[in-house]
Amino acid sequence: MGQTDRPRQRQSQRKETKTVADTVTGALRDVAFSCSASLFGTACFKDCEDLVPRSIPFSIRDLPYSVSVGFRLSDPVMDGLVDRPTRTYQYHYRQVNLLIDHTLLRMLGKLHELGYEGFPVPSSQIVDWEAGTGHLAHKVVASVAGLGWLGRNNLLVSPLYGARVRYGSLFTNAPLRLTAQVRETPGRPGAAGRSECGSCFACVSACPAGAIGKSRADFDLEKCRQTLKNFERSENIGSMICGLCVKACRGAKRRS
Ligand code: SF4
Ligand code: SF4
Repeated sequence: MGQTDRPRQRQSQRKETKTVADTVTGALRDVAFSCSASLFGTACFKDCEDLVPRSIPFSIRDLPYSVSVGFRLSDPVMDGLVDRPTRTYQYHYRQVNLLIDHTLLRMLGKLHELGYEGFPVPSSQIVDWEAGTGHLAHKVVASVAGLGWLGRNNLLVSPLYGARVRYGSLFTNAPLRLTAQVRETPGRPGAAGRSECGSCFACVSACPAGAIGKSRADFDLEKCRQTLKNFERSENIGSMICGLCVKACRGAKRRS
């Protein structure tokens, strides 16, 4: 093939990749929505590996693309929280986590069907008991996928549903159509950057620990964790959850 043919060849290869990416992304979106997901986004971590902890049990080079799915929590369940977590919230939280894991497995099955691999990140598996953290922060993956911003409460805030959403993440080697580009620092996800909280401070007054400050950078993780531990013991909840800043955060479109 002569040199003059190469641009055309590259063009047709790009076109082919685009079509595959669209097909895979569409198939995964269909699975997510058929499992009752409310939000779906995609991202590529090839150029921002630093946002993913080194401890994840796979290489971003092997699985650079990610899917983020968000499941809305029930408003009546959240509205039932007054000044502490309830057993009903804890049950709901666990069931939504199960649904997330189920959805990620269904998406993995679809990837296998299409000839690709994937790593469904457990929705709520603690891997570092001292720090109380999982494989990675699903909110960062969702943020890179453009599903919301990291708010004062250190949670992902969806413009539509606020913080009343739980997220799951799946990494894959399948090419995906990206729903968002990584923003530049300081608005970069995972960094203390751009927030769209504006004049809302609803979560600040809702927090019993005084852990939420003016900006996300002021968030006091230790104060929050201590309160969660107290709730876990005193309320016989059995999980380190609270939910009060989740309840308070309704998203830009639902404020006022
Ligand atoms: S989870 Fe509870 S203690 Fe922690 S920041 Fe939110 S409201 Fe405060
Ligand atoms: S409640 Fe308001 S200030 Fe707090 S994270 Fe949500 S939007 Fe931001």
